[in-house]
Amino acid sequence: MATDQATPPVDRRQQAFRTPAVDVDELTALLDGRYREVRELVRANLVEHAQILVDAEEMGQAEFRERVKDVVVHMASTGQTGMGFPTEYGGGGDIGASLAAFETLAFGDLSVLVKVGVQFGLFGGAILQLGTKIHHDRYLADLISGRTMGCFAMTETGHGSNVQALGTVARYDAEAEEFVITTPDDASRKDYIGNAAAHAELAAVFAQLEVDGESHGVHAFVVHIRRDGAVVDGVRIEDCGDKMGLDGVDNGRIWFDGLRVPRTALLNQFAEVTPEGRYLSPIDNPNRRFFTMLGTLVQGRVCVGGAGINAAKVALTIATRYADRRRQFEASSTDEEERLLDYGMHQRRLFPMIAENYALHFAQEVVAGQLHDVFSGPGPVDTGTDEQARRMLEARAAGTKALGTWHATRTIQECREACGGAGYLSENRFTALKADTDVFTTFEGDNHVLLQLVAKGLLTDYSSEFEDMDQFGMVRFVAGVAVETVVERTAVHKLFQSIRDLLPGGDEWDQEAGLLDPNYQLAMLRFREEHMLGGVARRLKRGIDSGMSPGAVFSRVQDHVIATARAHTERLVLEAFVAKVATVPDKDTKVALNLLCDLYALTTIEADRAWFMEHGRLSSARSKAISREVSDLCRKIRPIAVDLVDAFGVPDALLRSPELLAWGE
Ligand SMILES: Cc1cc2nc3c(=O)[nH]c(=O)nc-3n(C[C@H](O)[C@H](O)[C@H](O)COP(=O)(O)OP(=O)(O)OC[C@H]3O[C@@H](n4cnc5c(N)ncnc54)[C@H](O)[C@@H]3O)c2cc1C
Repeated sequence: MATDQATPPVDRRQQAFRTPAVDVDELTALLDGRYREVRELVRANLVEHAQILVDAEEMGQAEFRERVKDVVVHMASTGQTGMGFPTEYGGGGDIGASLAAFETLAFGDLSVLVKVGVQFGLFGGAILQLGTKIHHDRYLADLISGRTMGCFAMTETGHGSNVQALGTVARYDAEAEEFVITTPDDASRKDYIGNAAAHAELAAVFAQLEVDGESHGVHAFVVHIRRDGAVVDGVRIEDCGDKMGLDGVDNGRIWFDGLRVPRTALLNQFAEVTPEGRYLSPIDNPNRRFFTMLGTLVQGRVCVGGAGINAAKVALTIATRYADRRRQFEASSTDEEERLLDYGMHQRRLFPMIAENYALHFAQEVVAGQLHDVFSGPGPVDTGTDEQARRMLEARAAGTKALGTWHATRTIQECREACGGAGYLSENRFTALKADTDVFTTFEGDNHVLLQLVAKGLLTDYSSEFEDMDQFGMVRFVAGVAVETVVERTAVHKLFQSIRDLLPGGDEWDQEAGLLDPNYQLAMLRFREEHMLGGVARRLKRGIDSGMSPGAVFSRVQDHVIATARAHTERLVLEAFVAKVATVPDKDTKVALNLLCDLYALTTIEADRAWFMEHGRLSSARSKAISREVSDLCRKIRPIAVDLVDAFGVPDALLRSPELLAWGE
């Protein structure tokens, strides 16, 4: 991390300001990063299929689902969707490339994106990570090519976030050497399952494994739910019906009625049932086994976070370009009406979101890089992987997914409003962007539930007991250690101290340092995180000491827990941005990125100014100075705003919005 190094304090306000000349191609290359070629391939595929954005509005549901499937299969033929799979099965053998490809796909129709996510990420990921060679040999080549479609059947109507409590049962019949899969009640039917209503022949089904009367917890099985298009005996499927968006994805419900599948249907990377019915696993603790299994599927979460960030780029590009042309009211002495983008309020609405998008993009790059490293070992992740690194990755992926997808929801709405009535017309893309991205905050882990996972990591310092603990275990664990230990053990504490040492003013650092000094900005976010973390630990401990049950204590402190996780993730996002800018040569691109980085940091502090003031880290004078600085940064960004969104590299053909973007020509 750049900020670990002893960079001298800088106050960019003291430097004379000249509007930087943005080299759009250079900035796009920086954003595209290591996988530029992959992203270009996806852009080309999306442009080739740009008509699908129109089809989404004009076709009926059944026809559009087929259209989406055809596009997905065509994209598979270009290698775009199989980049993360082993080369011996026709994949590209590069996990980082597959993440870059998926993120970029979010520039186009999002039913295509989600169908790709289900087929190659969720279903393919389950076969790859939870299965062994027998499953890889049997299924990978066909699923990578799109010849066989599959689905990922985890969620049930009664249990979504709490996967450990699933009701579907897979009972082992030693005599027949088969598993018998049953849906015991309607709450246990599989629900919302993408690809299930029409296309999937196979399903990765998550069920409670029972062997000889003993339950071993949730395991995954690969089973046929259709053969040659017909639903197999022992399976019932229903369409979920109309949804808010993603009309091209066939979500369905599945019931199992004593479906018999061979013993080899168990995806046996982490557990095995011998023919005679002995259960074997290298991981003794059932909780740990469960979380290790789920942890291998973290890639889906990273993908959805990245997709949210990239879908928001489409909205930002349209809204910023429109505002640069659209005129409304005479605001100056000339007769001409003013461009929307010259209004301070419009700048205040759009530019902090552009800044946040850049920040999240670089934070996502860090998570994707870590995922690539952790998962690029020999074969699927096993228990030998550095466990703490894996836990930290899972928590970071969870936090970035939550912030990235909330950013998408807020940004798309704001951009729609910023385009006025024109934003409401479907041809300008916001109809689909809003409806299709909305659920990103829910699937691949509900955001609030994910932030609790982030907090659990922080509070337990990703300890080796992490996976053995449920929420209540975590409360007991935290209550059992000295509160100072919780804070002391985290890296935040040490980093915070080193930053504090760098800033002028000793204990008054927060009043003395320059607002545009990244060390000051980071110190503020670290102070908030550290303070919140200590506060949560203290409250958990007090609650338990006073005799309350762990559940009651956790529930009372839960909003504080979530706020801490969010503060932690925002700190990581800012660190990623600062670190990225530090790698850029001292030219105009760096000046432009510094403006965005300052804007992200100061709007983040501004948004939580009440907290900083309550905790004595912001005087009212300084708080007002931050708001002034934010507006000043927006004015500085104004001349380069269009370049900054053009650098996202969303192809013009995907922006549609013909009249909106040509306004005034
Ligand atoms: C379009 C779509 C596609 C999907 N595709 C798939 C798929 O292909 N395969 C699959 O397996 N699943 C799929 N899902 C399911 C999805 O993953 C779940 O909807 C998600 O995990 C949330 O579960 P839930 O709906 O049961 O919500 P719940 O878990 O019931 O959550 C409801 C609300 O309660 C809150 N909440 C839950 N627990 C807590 C807690 N402990 N403390 C505080 N608040 C809490 C949440 O924040 C949320 O706001 C899909 C869903 C949709 C809508």
